[in-house]
Order: sequence, then structure tokens, then C-alpha cells
Amino acid sequence: MLFLDTLRHFPETLAYRDQLVARLGLTGLINLTPDAAQLAARDASNLRWSYDPDGCCAIRKVAPLASALGGFDATITGRKAFQASTRTALPRFEPDTSDGAGRLKINPLAHWDANRLAAHMAAHDLPAHPLVAQGFPSIGCSPCTSRVAPGEDPRSGRWRGWDKTECGIHGPSEGPGPGYDPVF
Ligand code: SF4
Repeated sequence: MLFLDTLRHFPETLAYRDQLVARLGLTGLINLTPDAAQLAARDASNLRWSYDPDGCCAIRKVAPLASALGGFDATITGRKAFQASTRTALPRFEPDTSDGAGRLKINPLAHWDANRLAAHMAAHDLPAHPLVAQGFPSIGCSPCTSRVAPGEDPRSGRWRGWDKTECGIHGPSEGPGPGYDPVF
């Protein structure tokens, strides 16, 4: 399991990571951090998020993950179609075109709705991220995550005010190709 530590997470996120590792007995967790030289050269002020969030995500998320995925044939994400209008066509399986490696991306929760998710978490006594109860249904780095009002997309609090909906690890879903069976 890979955890992208951008060094800009909420403290609650790091505590939640540790809580899940302990609760689920996870082994082999790898914490990925940005390259120190890249940070020093391109974001020494830690403020790149405020004027170039794409560049900040590239340094803190995309590059560290790309470096770590070389030995993998597939990745599994937790993305759900209901999270945002840009994810409504999210398929369960899609090619990962981020680096030309021919990797498969699997989204097993793509068609789960919020009720099914909540029921599953309750049935298996899975803790929620502590900030969910405080109005943050989708949580990324602290400078780029704001509270969401009732009726808004769950991800509308991410990069609010910017024309940006994804960090660069995932693009807006273009949906499945011909022949895709959504009830697979
Ligand atoms: S979410 Fe914000 S702080 Fe985090 S890497 Fe992207 S721009 Fe930087």
C-alpha cells in the first residue's frame, strides 16, 4: 500500500492513516514523500499551491507516485462516481495512461453510492476520517481543502476557486470504452 505524504496534509489525515494501519493490521505501508531537491528548487516557500497548484501537485504527488509505480502492473483506487460531476462516467477498469507504462487502474468502488459506502463502513466497524464529521467529505492537502455546503459535490471543496478538479494522478474520467458492462 502506498501513502502519498505531500508534507501538506492535515494532522488528522496522518493520524487517520496510522489508525487504519493499526486497526486493519496493514503491513508494508510505504510512505512516499516529495524529492527534497525538487522541493528546495521549486517550492522552497511551501506556497506554490497558492499560485501554481498544478505545479505543486506535480512535485508533491505525481512525481513521487510515478517513481514508485515502476514495479506494478496495476493500481487500485478508492474513487467513486458520485463524488463529482467529473467522475460520473468512472469505469471499474481503465488503462492508466499517465506514463505510457500500460498499467491497469482498477476502481472497485466506482459504482457505490454514499449510502452503500456508509452501510459497509458501519457493518465492518470502519472509522471515518475525523474531518468528515466537520464538513469535509473529500480531504486532500490542508491548503487546498475547504468545507462543502449541503448540495454541493463532495469534491467541490478541493482547490476551490481554481479551474482544477484533479491533482494529476487521475484525470477526469472519459468513461468506459465500447462494450463495457456497468453491472460486471
Ligand atoms: S493538493 Fe494543494 S498542497 Fe497538495 S500537492 Fe496539490 S496544490 Fe500542493
